[in-house]
Amino acid sequence: MSSSELRKDIVSGEWVVLAPGRAKRPDAFIKKIKRERVSKKDCPFEDPQTTNHGDPLLVYPKDALHSTSRLNKRDKWRIQIIRNKYPAFRHERKCIPAISRGPYEVMEGIGYHHLLLTRDHHRNYPRLSSSEAALVFLSFQEHYKDLARDKCVKYVSFFHNWGPKAGASVYHPHYQIMALPMIPPDVGRSLKGSQQYYNKHKKCVHCTILGWERKEKKRIIYETKNVIAFIPYISREPFEARIFPKKHSSYFEDASSKIVEEVSHALRLVLQRMERRLKDPDYNFFIHSAPTHRRDKFAHYHWHIEVLPKMSVYAGFELGTGIEVTVVDPDDAARLLKIKK
Ligand SMILES: [Zn+2]
Ligand SMILES: [Zn+2]
Repeated sequence: MSSSELRKDIVSGEWVVLAPGRAKRPDAFIKKIKRERVSKKDCPFEDPQTTNHGDPLLVYPKDALHSTSRLNKRDKWRIQIIRNKYPAFRHERKCIPAISRGPYEVMEGIGYHHLLLTRDHHRNYPRLSSSEAALVFLSFQEHYKDLARDKCVKYVSFFHNWGPKAGASVYHPHYQIMALPMIPPDVGRSLKGSQQYYNKHKKCVHCTILGWERKEKKRIIYETKNVIAFIPYISREPFEARIFPKKHSSYFEDASSKIVEEVSHALRLVLQRMERRLKDPDYNFFIHSAPTHRRDKFAHYHWHIEVLPKMSVYAGFELGTGIEVTVVDPDDAARLLKIKK
């Protein structure tokens, strides 16, 4: 490859620049940053019911197989979903449509903003056991179905910020759930792109991408019968990774517990690998799924998880042009992150 290459994303239609010459080796700019272990003292999530978070919305008591919405004082818990004390979106009894203000469209922040907590203060996602990791996604799936029943909700976003550089303000591992009254722009672009591809080729764009990655083999970092993890050919950030169920499926909420378990396990392995090979970076991960409303409209979409480690980045050009510059060749990133079985 010459010094740089422009690649166009077939889903979003956006261009990215691959300029691996700017980093001498793929690992040249991986810097070890000391992770601060914040003590349990004053942690708001050690005992959320005594720090004004109210009763849990859903809780898995320790040793229980099923969730409940009641937690007795003496009970220990494994996972609980609570209301965010400072919500970005708030529930109202009725939907409130957008209004015009001058040339602008304005909408009230109607929806839900909840948090999913895992019990152990120091064990973040890659340190959970396989069954605990699965329970994070299974309990979210259960809660998701509740939120999706609200007619005002159009999209439910699930994401995790690990570390201050990724936007986590509390150290205790927590996962955010935001139910929104509109389809967020990134998801909207992705839905539109996959719809256009489907109209033209009568095929899911993500299935096409998975097919090509499986043929090329170079960027796959983990694969089982049902799940695949790879470094995308069009990477916006160095070392970003995606995890897909192989069988076409638009809706995360429809995934069987077996698929949810396999995907959550793959995510755990990918994050363990990133921790080791990228020197413990902060990161974000999130689910992209078809919207909760108009279920007839989005069969062309394919749900998945995206993982974005926070590596050092060059801004400026990105802000001025919307073109992301990636300094690590996805093929090299995959070699570094490949999970040995
Ligand atoms: Zn804590
Ligand atoms: Zn598909």
